[in-house]
Amino acid sequence: MAAVDLKGVVKSYDGKLNVIHGIDLQIQHGEFVVFVGPSGCGKSTLLRMIAGLETISGGEVSIDGHVVNDLPPRARDIAMVFQDYALYPHKNLYDNMAFGLRLRKTPEAEIKQRVMDAAKLLKIDHMLERKPAALSGGQRQRVAIGRAIVRQPKVFLFDEPLSNLDAQLRHEMRSEIKRLHQRLGATIIYVTHDQVEAMTMADRIAVLSAGKKMQYDTPDNIYNRPAAVFVAGFTGAPPMNLADCTLTSGRADLGGTQIVLPPELAARGSASGSAKLKFGIRPENITLSRLSPSDLEVPAEVSLLEPLGAETLVSLKIGATEMVSRCNAAFRDPPGTRLAVHMNPRHLHLFDATTGAAL
Ligand code: ADP
Ligand code: MG
Repeated sequence: MAAVDLKGVVKSYDGKLNVIHGIDLQIQHGEFVVFVGPSGCGKSTLLRMIAGLETISGGEVSIDGHVVNDLPPRARDIAMVFQDYALYPHKNLYDNMAFGLRLRKTPEAEIKQRVMDAAKLLKIDHMLERKPAALSGGQRQRVAIGRAIVRQPKVFLFDEPLSNLDAQLRHEMRSEIKRLHQRLGATIIYVTHDQVEAMTMADRIAVLSAGKKMQYDTPDNIYNRPAAVFVAGFTGAPPMNLADCTLTSGRADLGGTQIVLPPELAARGSASGSAKLKFGIRPENITLSRLSPSDLEVPAEVSLLEPLGAETLVSLKIGATEMVSRCNAAFRDPPGTRLAVHMNPRHLHLFDATTGAAL
């Protein structure tokens, strides 16, 4: 186990344009941290700098308190698992897992012990004689993880390890990797573009956008207290509803429709002095009723139904904007139906539309 510390880390591939803009992150012993963000935001670059596979253009990476900027990958005591498995096709599973240990001249008896332990943990101990070609995608990914486990590294790095698997297997492996973390108690840094993986697996999530850290926090805080409009719009399926708004006497005006804000939120909104604001609410915090609109309810019109089995997503026209509400599966009112909408005042968000910061 080890702590990983990033201080002002910068990366430029061409010496001119930065793709990572000075990132600070502290990862504790035994923590499961997920880097999440859209494709191209710099997740792999950051991970590869921790691994020593990319040079660090500025700032410091430390492992267990020692700056490792100039250490080669093999001296950093980390193991990396990639999306494409990178197994040796002509070696069987046992030899694939043993390879790194043999290079390090580990005694054969110890190699056997470690490979068998990892294989049992990953439930591949009955197929160690097979070659990778005879395995399914999920089994290959297990071998790649097993190869990392036998190394007993200080830190595990995963770069989108489940992206090549189908949805069901991805779900299975997600819970297996999480259980593995509980068993090993290892420090894990895991990169994904999938916010569901991030939310379900992480102790803490670093949300990245365009080479910058948007928020580094628990899944609960990322979801319920997003620090930036980007985080709000990236998390949740569907994500938070976001709409341009102005403030008028304690209300958010969404273009003709006004939402009463809790006094503290309205005060923060006006104190910010921002002319352009964004109003946010998650789909599960919008409820629909047939009552005539009261002070806390606003009129809306159903525009689309998406039944998901356990629930139905209902798109609504509210003022000049469109929002999604997560409703009971039994909801069947057709498009065109006019309803009253209640927005839970404890779950309203305001953001500065220019800086993106939460207010
Ligand atoms: P992610 O893993 O989040 O999809 P990457 O870290 O791969 O993002 O890429 C971040 C940025 O760096 C992108 O703009 C990408 O085009 C650029 N980039 C990545 N690898 C290289 C490279 N080897 N040379 C030049 N630019 C690169
Ligand atoms: Mg990547």
